[in-house]
Amino acid sequence: MTNVIALSSYSADRWLPSGAGADLISAIDGSVVARMPGNAEVGEMLDHARKVGGPALRAMTFQQRGKMLRALADALGARKEELYALSSLTGATRSDSAFDIEGGIGALFVYSAKAKAMPDARVMLDGGRETISKGDFLGQHILAPMTGVAVHINAYNFPVWGMLEKLAPTLLAGMPAIVKPGTVGAYLTEAAFRIIVESGALPPGAVQLLLGSTGDLLDQLDGQDSVAFTGSAETAGRLKAGANIVRNTVRFAAEQDSLNASILGQDATPDAPEFDLFVKEVVREMTQKAGQKCTAIRRILVPVSQIDAVQDALVARLGKMTAGDPRAETTRLGALAGTGQRDDVIANLAALRAEAELVTGGTIPDLDGELENGAFFNATLLRCDRPSEAEAVHAVEAFGPVSTIMPYGDADEAIALANAGKGSLALSIFSHDTSAIAGLVGGISTFHGRIMIVGRDNAEFSSGHGAALPHLQHGGPGRAGGGAELGGTIGMMPYLQRSAIQASAAVLEAIASL
Ligand code: NAP
Repeated sequence: MTNVIALSSYSADRWLPSGAGADLISAIDGSVVARMPGNAEVGEMLDHARKVGGPALRAMTFQQRGKMLRALADALGARKEELYALSSLTGATRSDSAFDIEGGIGALFVYSAKAKAMPDARVMLDGGRETISKGDFLGQHILAPMTGVAVHINAYNFPVWGMLEKLAPTLLAGMPAIVKPGTVGAYLTEAAFRIIVESGALPPGAVQLLLGSTGDLLDQLDGQDSVAFTGSAETAGRLKAGANIVRNTVRFAAEQDSLNASILGQDATPDAPEFDLFVKEVVREMTQKAGQKCTAIRRILVPVSQIDAVQDALVARLGKMTAGDPRAETTRLGALAGTGQRDDVIANLAALRAEAELVTGGTIPDLDGELENGAFFNATLLRCDRPSEAEAVHAVEAFGPVSTIMPYGDADEAIALANAGKGSLALSIFSHDTSAIAGLVGGISTFHGRIMIVGRDNAEFSSGHGAALPHLQHGGPGRAGGGAELGGTIGMMPYLQRSAIQASAAVLEAIASL
């Protein structure tokens, strides 16, 4: 890469001066891709969002904002090849990039479609009217956009989707946003953000981009503001406990570490279709985005009688997942986002190996030439034979192509192991036994934000274990952070305030058409 991209933050509808910050490095070959800007003045951003962006968005109806999202999706779609070209430098293969880029644009499309069923008004009714007296005095919950700013703090692993999946529900709800992307790969987010600005689809002040440090941004928020954070549990814990966040009851939603599991049903012997479907899905989850997916399968739960057969099948399939240049069509496993991230994976792998043995991988691939400086890591399978007595395998997330296979004896043990992750974003079950599936779901649903069940009859229609869909909630309890993004109106809730209105029918009617 010869031309180093000089990145800028976008504040109060103008690009700030570029340069002066740290270099951002290609995940493929270690060359400098871009240079971060200096720190931005966050006070100006907050002021602009509150005084300009918020009022402009709130002047529109839900349906008008839906059309705005559609225009945004069209603009990004028309220029997506620009994003693909940069995405490979983050280590992503073409199909990894599609997951990020098309997935993000898809979230905008789905939210714009959902808006068609929303009111052509500025408030949304929540449920029906409540009869609370014998006379003309009724109750009605309404939802209206909060008058502050939505701060989005994103992880590095999805530079495009991470931004768009939060912007879709926020903008549709009617709140302006300040987007702070993860620094690694911020050049891809900045490129997508430039398309958003140049599309002219959004009113002034609706979105701003903050690259680098957030400075004292979180100390300047109040109860009409909202923070949506994606990243590590450690950072989330620190930020949401900030004195100002607590004092002003600033809404803080977190999507964080998640030890997602997939369960192979007891009925799925090697000759059953579910067995192969399961093996393929686990391998895809381990290798897509080089395992840097918050929803990736980290724990592979299989009947004790099948563990050797599943392990053999996984090893055979993982053997075909060649690591290499993500721009090459033959590459099945791209690079991690950077060598710092690879160091984290190696450190967490060491913690896991205290309880689990290495089956395959655990090494840096031997690549030639400039790729030697890339952040590659081989797909790595661990095995833990006593998972009920283990801790690390249920708690330590190696954020790369790393997963642990473990046996369960019966359904109760499968449930206990699934829940030992103390809350996850996504769990999947591969089985053809309807009543066994229902029993598992009954035991696990409160620990897992999304549960995907696949068998021989629906596999071809499956959206995949790791795909967070705009139609369905993305978020999970406990370790996963307790947040709920996406899922249509569910994902808009952090940006809407519910009020219970008690009034006559005529007044309620007038409010509904605000
Ligand atoms: P991270 O270090 O926690 O960073 C997440 C975001 O927080 C980044 O934008 C980071 O900015 C920012 N940040 C860090 N310290 C901050 C501070 N003091 N004030 C304000 N912002 C701050 O996590 P990461 O390394 O980017 O991502 C990897 C982790 O994220 C993994 O553990 C993974 O499980 C988790 N993750 C979870 C999900 C999910 O949906 N549950 C999705 C993706 C990733 P900088 O980049 O500038 O440091």
